[in-house]
Amino acid sequence: MPHTKKRPASLMGINRKARIMILSVSCGGLAILAAVVFLLNASLSTIASKANEMETERARELVNASIQALENRLTGIATDNALWDDAVRHVYQTPIDSAWLDRNWGASTGEDRPYDGAFVMDEAFHRLWGKWRQKSIGAGTTELLGNGFTTLVQKNRRELSDGSKIVSGVTLTESGPAIVTIALIRSYHAVRPTAEAPRRYLVFTRHLTPPTVTAMGDAFKLSDLHIHVPEEGTHNEATLPLLEANGAVISELAWTQRLSGAVASSAAEDEIQQITLLVGGLVLALVLVSAYGLHRLARSEEAAQLTALTDSLSGLPNRRALYERLQEISRRREAVPVSIVFMDLDGFKEVNDIYGHIVGDQIISKMAEVLKSYMPRDAMLARIGGDEFAMLVMGGASGNQSRQFGKRVLTSLKNPVRIGERAIQVGVSIGIASDDLKAVSVEEMFRRADVAMYHAKVSGKNQIVSYNRDLDAERLRIQEIEQGIREGLKRDEFEVVYQPIVDAKTYAVTAVEALVRWPRRPEGALFPHEFIPIAEDSGLIEDLGMYVLKRACQQLLPHSPMKLSVNISPAQFRDPDFEARVVDILNETTFESTRLELEVTEGYLVENPERAITAITQLKKHGVTFALDDFGTGYSSIGSLRRFKFDRIKIDRSLAGDIDRECQAAALVAGAVNIAQAMSIEVTAEGVENFAQARLLRIAGCNSLQGYYFARPLPLDELLGTDNSGLGPSKVMPEEVDPYGAAGPRSRNARRPGAGARKVAV
Ligand code: C2E
Ligand code: CA
Ligand code: CA
Repeated sequence: MPHTKKRPASLMGINRKARIMILSVSCGGLAILAAVVFLLNASLSTIASKANEMETERARELVNASIQALENRLTGIATDNALWDDAVRHVYQTPIDSAWLDRNWGASTGEDRPYDGAFVMDEAFHRLWGKWRQKSIGAGTTELLGNGFTTLVQKNRRELSDGSKIVSGVTLTESGPAIVTIALIRSYHAVRPTAEAPRRYLVFTRHLTPPTVTAMGDAFKLSDLHIHVPEEGTHNEATLPLLEANGAVISELAWTQRLSGAVASSAAEDEIQQITLLVGGLVLALVLVSAYGLHRLARSEEAAQLTALTDSLSGLPNRRALYERLQEISRRREAVPVSIVFMDLDGFKEVNDIYGHIVGDQIISKMAEVLKSYMPRDAMLARIGGDEFAMLVMGGASGNQSRQFGKRVLTSLKNPVRIGERAIQVGVSIGIASDDLKAVSVEEMFRRADVAMYHAKVSGKNQIVSYNRDLDAERLRIQEIEQGIREGLKRDEFEVVYQPIVDAKTYAVTAVEALVRWPRRPEGALFPHEFIPIAEDSGLIEDLGMYVLKRACQQLLPHSPMKLSVNISPAQFRDPDFEARVVDILNETTFESTRLELEVTEGYLVENPERAITAITQLKKHGVTFALDDFGTGYSSIGSLRRFKFDRIKIDRSLAGDIDRECQAAALVAGAVNIAQAMSIEVTAEGVENFAQARLLRIAGCNSLQGYYFARPLPLDELLGTDNSGLGPSKVMPEEVDPYGAAGPRSRNARRPGAGARKVAV
């Protein structure tokens, strides 16, 4: 069936939500993975560059320290040589003892020596003697030793001249960057020289030649330490500027960075990769687990939703599913014409009561199948209540399709539904509403279909009614009547009238039929056929019926042995306490049970034979008799006469009333009477309106007669006379006018009673 394949609109929403959630989890997982990888790499490179920086800084300190060490060493040597009595003697004499100087200081100059240059200078720092790598340099200015030297001298002239300090620093000589040390040559023991005494200074240089620098590098484990001119440095070289005493950058010490951070980070690369893989695996697992969880959740939610939208018994969508579908259609942009078909099984409650819920459920399932088999293509069939189904049909032809569907269903239900051994007659009342959901709301569509269905039900059941506006007014009227009955019972607005049943031969009144009237209805009297069906449909018939029974028993009590006939609605049998309530009333009113006859129509007996048999059998035990009312209108089966052991049949006025005009009616009456006689069942003919009918019915074998010819239904005191002494033989039956408005439809065939009416007697 198409509807089972179609998934409710709300379920699609679930899947989309689940997909979005799974996607977000996956994206989240990827983001986490990316973040982890990024953080790992970022922190690693930060650590590496920090390590590199620290390493460079440390190397710089080392280079600084190595220069300082060189400086200290030169200072130490200068100190030893300048504070030397022997030297004082040879230096302060005039002329200066160059031979001694050559021997002692000049001989020690060399590239691989602690100093490569030695000079002796006077107060004005003019060179008196000099030796540069064993080569003599004659007297001259200080220019040879560069600006660094000049600055050192200028800054420290006082300390130098009083011998309180030996000064060292960096300078750029003609031969390149060098450490220079200046010390006053003086006696080790002598106090400081006086101001006017001449001064001789010893100057040592040590050039930072490539071998020297390399040796420095080796000492401090700095690979490739060298000197170069600034700006020449390659990328991974660390540098330290070499500053002269005056602050000028004269050169740069450079060395190859070890970059242990980078080394460490590249060493950690494999581990990082492993960690990344591990985290990636974890994230993937997380994503998979949560995606699976979400998927399961969505599935179970979907299943729950599906359960919530499906009727478990019939497997059909339920009311909510149908409602959601309609809502979804109503939200579409274009106006879609739709028809809603409401179906309510007739008499399902009784089936349930009598056969039990299992059979009831089977009937529902069976009905679902039957309805499905006639369903138009693309329609949606739903079970919307206990015995209620609804169908949605879409499109311009939906109205026609719905009526066709309804007709087919009704035709098919003419045959009873088979449940196991049983064949159960099922009827269905069908209401159809058609419109488009732009013009009418979903709720209104439901209401209209319900109103139409309700009318199908109250106006005879097992039929199709299409909604129109008049039905609303009609429904309102029905609701008002229903409420009126409820109130009327409380306010004692009802009355019972009696129609005599006379002996066919003597015309003596042997019994009366109690008929309910509503004379005190504030809005005006109504006929039983106008309010009885409403009372039956609403269940109010139970109370109304008991009211009539009780009142009739009370009123007829003193008029023994006159028998009393009371009508029982099929609906009253539904009450499981029905028998007990009847017996209670008999006891309460002390009305003899053998005087009471209950009139039942056949419809209910066919619908619910078991229940009817129980009730009838129970009450017959108490002496109550039963009449089959309206014989000749419905099924009129001989079978039910035998099965229910009726004491009487009442031939309907549609047969009896035509006996004088139609041969067929006469034949039918004769046939019915023959059968009844064969089964020892009494026959009453109803609706006798003239002498001819009365005569023919008597000849046909009817035992008793009832009809306007004898009397209309009347209040008991009017029927029996105001003296209340009972019907005397001379009493003439009151005629034509129904005291409570029987001038209505039922009386349209009524004719003035003829002379025969005067022959009525008890
Ligand atoms: P029914 O049981 O067939 O009652 C007989 C109906 O035929 C009565 O209509 C009566 O007035 C009418 N009638 C009797 N003689 C003639 C006649 O010669 N010609 C014509 N044309 N009609 C005749 P009423 O009182 O309007 O009742 C209509 C139906 O309402 C009854 O049909 C019965 O089925 C139902 N009814 C009336 N009172 C009660 C009640 O207390 N309980 C139940 N359950 N049903 C009742
Ligand atoms: Ca009756
Ligand atoms: Ca009848």
